[in-house]
Amino acid sequence: MQPYERLTADRLASLPAGSRLKLGGQIIKLTGRGSFTNSAGRTLNMIDYVDSRGVPGSFEESIILDSATEHLNSVMCAYCGARRHVNDCIVRTVSTKMTTSQSHFCEDKGCAERFFRMNPGRSKMARRNKW
Ligand SMILES: [Zn+2]
Repeated sequence: MQPYERLTADRLASLPAGSRLKLGGQIIKLTGRGSFTNSAGRTLNMIDYVDSRGVPGSFEESIILDSATEHLNSVMCAYCGARRHVNDCIVRTVSTKMTTSQSHFCEDKGCAERFFRMNPGRSKMARRNKW
């Protein structure tokens, strides 16, 4: 399966109010759009939404285009950043000094192997140096 298309400004403009997008880890519901002129005199397109807890907010259109996707069940590959269907990904445990978390990687491109080759210390399998 191919990576998902990015959301475009035209596509975003055609989505009716009430459409749901995935933004970061949460699902937002579009409620409208407007514009806002900042102190530099630049007019920004603003997208209004309510988040999954029903809290209203708004983001500049470019932020939505960079960060949001229509594919609600997509996940982002921790290695290459592609948005993939969750079934096209494998989950690996990634450890840092502070945290251990589950990350998704493209299964067909071998992203997990490449990630751990570049970050050998991040793998749970990493051998400890002997004292
Ligand atoms: Zn990948």
